[in-house]
Amino acid sequence: MFNRNTKKKTRFSDFLSGEYARDYINQTTPYAEQIDRAAKRIREADYVLIGAGAGMSTAAGAEYGGRFFEEHFAEFQKIYGKGPYMQDMYSAGFYPFPDQESKWGYWSHQALLAGPDLDVTPLHRTLLDALKGKKIFLLSTNADRQFEKAGLPPEQVFATQGTYDRIQCKRGCHPKTYDAVELFRQMERARQNGRIPGELVPKCPVCGGNMEMNLRVDNFFVEDENWHAAEDRFSRFLSECMDGKTVLLELGVGFNTPTIIRFPFEKLTRQRENISLVRLSRSKAMVPASLGDRAIGINADMAQSITDLAEKLREGGEE
Ligand SMILES: [Zn+2]
Repeated sequence: MFNRNTKKKTRFSDFLSGEYARDYINQTTPYAEQIDRAAKRIREADYVLIGAGAGMSTAAGAEYGGRFFEEHFAEFQKIYGKGPYMQDMYSAGFYPFPDQESKWGYWSHQALLAGPDLDVTPLHRTLLDALKGKKIFLLSTNADRQFEKAGLPPEQVFATQGTYDRIQCKRGCHPKTYDAVELFRQMERARQNGRIPGELVPKCPVCGGNMEMNLRVDNFFVEDENWHAAEDRFSRFLSECMDGKTVLLELGVGFNTPTIIRFPFEKLTRQRENISLVRLSRSKAMVPASLGDRAIGINADMAQSITDLAEKLREGGEE
């Protein structure tokens, strides 16, 4: 599939993989040695393709439930009860809001807190600093844009599942998305008892129907011009790094949507000897045994492992 010398780009759809490894192991190498090995791989690499999942944002300090939710969403818990929904930002998003005023009253609040107003960039920055000098690209399922906030140019990012700052037609009737940050701020200011005034409810400029967050939750997710441009850049990067010394650096990707980053990274590592996989996760860092020493899986608190890895990389080349 990834032929040498081919000019054909690898489309994102070809990159995706549903192939579950049957030989997962948790590596038993001591932690310090794993960090050493990962640092060595990265040091020798020309290309680093970062794959980031929810675990990265969490490790960096993003909060979704618990006391954070109680604190910031008390208004909604009071109206809707805590129930099964109003526990954390993930579950609450599925609440069957009675009308658009209530729906956007909630969503504008969550979108701002989880997106534009979120700042958990120090850990992201630590990593980016440690990767200076490498050609890097980020494939991310996170909608929070924290790597960009930390300084990664947007041209080096492909956020496949959408971002918290854009909205689209609910039925995806036309391939466009709209920046909604200012609208969300207006909603935030105007909200009373969980609802926004009717005149702030966004309507599709084409079909007149309801709007939705541009987050991939169903088949109506809109892949707009920017999405396709990012896919293009991703494909180009992939073609380039296919023959170079490449590390796939996977950060906090579990098994929720493994077909986007986890399985494809395993597939690429299997196919190419010049590619290695460094997988960091709090508890899901098992790697296929058959990848041998080209796969390093570090089960550890990621704030710690990223910090240690970055420090090792800063120390330079002494082995
Ligand atoms: Zn529409």
